[in-house]
Amino acid sequence: MASQQLINGYKKRMQKANFVICSSCFWCATCFDAGKEFPACPACKGSPVDSLPISENEFYKVEIAGNRNIELSFGRSER
Ligand SMILES: [Zn+2]
Repeated sequence: MASQQLINGYKKRMQKANFVICSSCFWCATCFDAGKEFPACPACKGSPVDSLPISENEFYKVEIAGNRNIELSFGRSER
């Protein structure tokens, strides 16, 4: 029963998830509280971070190449 409550809580939070990224240092994270605003990047303390809403069936993948390039890809899972 407790595990079902955890799953329901997770699903509820995922409905409001946002992908947030800093345009200066590319720090990124998933924010489960879409109403929360980051006044400044927590890593470089620079500019405000950009925020993109993520639907429950969408995902993103972060790949870091050896030459310090970062590649982000977004997709949608099939159900
Ligand atoms: Zn930053």
